[in-house]
Amino acid sequence: MKPIIKTSRRDFIRTGSLGAGALVLGSALSSLALANPAKRLGIALVGLGGYSGGQLAPALQHTQNCYLAGIVTGTPAKAETWSKKYNIPQKNIYNYQNFDSIAHNPDIDIVYVVLPVSMHKEFTIRAANAGKHVICEKPMALNAADCREMVAACKQANKLLSIGYRLHFEPHTQEVMRLGQKQVFGKITKVDTANGFTYNGDPNAWRLKKALAGGGGLMDMGIYAIQGARYTLGQEPVAVKATQEKTRPDFFKEVDETVFWELKFPGGAKVTGKSSYNHDWGYLRATAEKGSFELEPAYGYGGLDGKVNGKPMQIHNIIQQAAQMDDFATCVTLNKTSRVPGEEGVKDMKVVDAIYRSLESGKWEKI
Ligand code: NAD
Repeated sequence: MKPIIKTSRRDFIRTGSLGAGALVLGSALSSLALANPAKRLGIALVGLGGYSGGQLAPALQHTQNCYLAGIVTGTPAKAETWSKKYNIPQKNIYNYQNFDSIAHNPDIDIVYVVLPVSMHKEFTIRAANAGKHVICEKPMALNAADCREMVAACKQANKLLSIGYRLHFEPHTQEVMRLGQKQVFGKITKVDTANGFTYNGDPNAWRLKKALAGGGGLMDMGIYAIQGARYTLGQEPVAVKATQEKTRPDFFKEVDETVFWELKFPGGAKVTGKSSYNHDWGYLRATAEKGSFELEPAYGYGGLDGKVNGKPMQIHNIIQQAAQMDDFATCVTLNKTSRVPGEEGVKDMKVVDAIYRSLESGKWEKI
């Protein structure tokens, strides 16, 4: 998507992310839906937690190629609130048990899995088998082997699968991809990137349970930093060495707190990364032979910012999720592979798996 309207950081803050983003999206997205509004595709959100309620449902009020048509929840009270708030008819509301009967509902074209990580595989496969195209949130699954099964199941069912990698639709990120992959300032020699936040929430939350989350800060936040390095270089890493630090072992009993890694890429760039549930991090810094560029914040959805050779990027912020879901709806309509297909999730999870192996072995591990 090309930037259409430049919005300054001050405008962005004044209008809020939805206001400014809506302005941009309104004129920038595919003309598909505008040409035929009746063709907007129906999305059903599975799991009505923080991300669905705080980001995806609001973003779906600004999409042009898709709309919030249905919900899947285990909590009847949530079904009622959402139904009223978003005008969702009773026939488009499912629970986890009767979910498979969504197969007979022509209102739902796309199922968006927004559940704890351990449930991603099951619901992605059930959705594809019910004849629906699927968006699955990050991290794609507990490990790369599960991710591959998800890709295979969607292929078998002849359904498109995409991962909720919203940043691929975000203009600052797209600029970093262009500068890095096209080697605008020559070969990239160094990438340093970090993502994390200080976790002080419910000690019983699924994010702290290994069986439900797969891991801690690495799975949840580190996945962005791993991907940041991959899309800056436009290459796949071949090996990794990792270490970790735990300052609150009582809180992070089952999952990692802070993880540090170094990745080996074929081009020889020095690539370091870190993830944390105990530090507020969110940057990506790239050094090339003849210049440098950086993002900070680099991975959130509250507005990114960046510099190229020390000067502000001056790129507008958008509603990332609206752009992401609209793009997938267009892919479904045109039967075209998403730019963030399941295979992209497999690539990141292969790196995550190797980082956990390296934490165990204390050695470089092949990816
Ligand atoms: P959340 O805890 O707020 O919501 C999880 C939902 O799953 C809740 O509605 C909960 O009721 C439901 N659920 C069903 N079975 C459950 C079980 N056994 N245990 C716990 N909850 C259960 O989580 P969230 O922040 O909305 O995250 C959901 C997914 O979205 C995760 O994969 C997360 O990584 C992803 N996410 C992505 C982004 C992004 O920017 N792309 C941001 C936040 C979250």
